[in-house]
Amino acid sequence: MGMTDVIGKICADLEVEARRNQPMRHFTSLKTGGVISCIAYPDTREKAAKLVHALDEAGIAWSPLGYGTNLLVKDGEIQRVAVSLRLLEDLLVFDGTRVHVHAGYSLPRLVNACADRGMSGIEGLAPIPGSVGGAVKMNAGSHGYEIADAIETVDIARAGKVVTLERGEIDFSYRHSPFTSRELVLGITLQLKPGAPEEIKAEIQQYRKHRSATQPVRDNSAGCIFKNPGNGVTTGRIIDELGLKGMTHGGATISPLHANFIVTDGSAQAGDIFSLIDVIRTRVAEERGIDLELEVEVWE
Ligand SMILES: Cc1cc2nc3c(=O)[nH]c(=O)nc-3n(C[C@H](O)[C@H](O)[C@H](O)COP(=O)(O)OP(=O)(O)OC[C@H]3O[C@@H](n4cnc5c(N)ncnc54)[C@H](O)[C@@H]3O)c2cc1C
Repeated sequence: MGMTDVIGKICADLEVEARRNQPMRHFTSLKTGGVISCIAYPDTREKAAKLVHALDEAGIAWSPLGYGTNLLVKDGEIQRVAVSLRLLEDLLVFDGTRVHVHAGYSLPRLVNACADRGMSGIEGLAPIPGSVGGAVKMNAGSHGYEIADAIETVDIARAGKVVTLERGEIDFSYRHSPFTSRELVLGITLQLKPGAPEEIKAEIQQYRKHRSATQPVRDNSAGCIFKNPGNGVTTGRIIDELGLKGMTHGGATISPLHANFIVTDGSAQAGDIFSLIDVIRTRVAEERGIDLELEVEVWE
């Protein structure tokens, strides 16, 4: 049996929807990337855990796919299965100041739902597009908030089962979680604190307004391309000082509004973005002696 048949059989046996040969430009906010063998959509956590275990056992490469807002996928053929949790039941469970949510849920929607209920602790994450699972994997953060700060437990897939990890067992750091590319986050429980809904919503509004003024939020991008190097220095500032804003390769441009963003038009190839990344890295290394680390995740 070829790889495609094996994937088809695994998905059929588990009753998981499988869509073959999908263009990743439709699943990433950069609107680039080649064609992936399959995107699988389990509709329960249990099926998701069994699916990735079966793929592992069969030696088939797979990757978790959130909303593609931090992903740079290569051009051409991508031989792997992307596992999307978008079809998991749309469920938020509130329990006092705790909320339990599945990994396919939208992070901005979660923040809004908590604000409506007067639950505070994640309002700074409101402008971050993407799924809850992607936010956990990236330890997404902004405006002094990080998702890790509110996490009580994380459910992940292990050996075909759903396993719950306590926050103390998970070593988060700046834009980093210990979860490997072969681990699937299925859900989280957050511990929040009570607050006044109107105040929380006002704070969220302020963050969103600040974003629209300082970042190209209406263009195709993946947010910041590089991590900040530390010591309070921002990568955007360094790239700006080197005069690289506005540089264009093919359909990709270093944003004139925020130099750590690469924005694309409909014609862009992933290769255009990779070549801008090379230029930035080389110039920053030569002129500032800093080895920039990517913040975006690359699928090659
Ligand atoms: C305009 C804009 C602004 C942004 N601003 C910010 C910001 O302020 N702060 C910030 O931190 N980020 C920011 N981002 C980046 C991005 O939104 C976050 O990293 C987000 O958390 C990614 O979520 P996602 O669902 O889109 O993940 P994806 O892009 O789909 O995936 C990212 C990585 O997470 C993995 N992953 C996805 N789901 C799971 C899962 N269930 N289990 C395990 N791994 C998983 C993927 O395999 C991949 O490695 C911004 C992006 C854009 C486009």
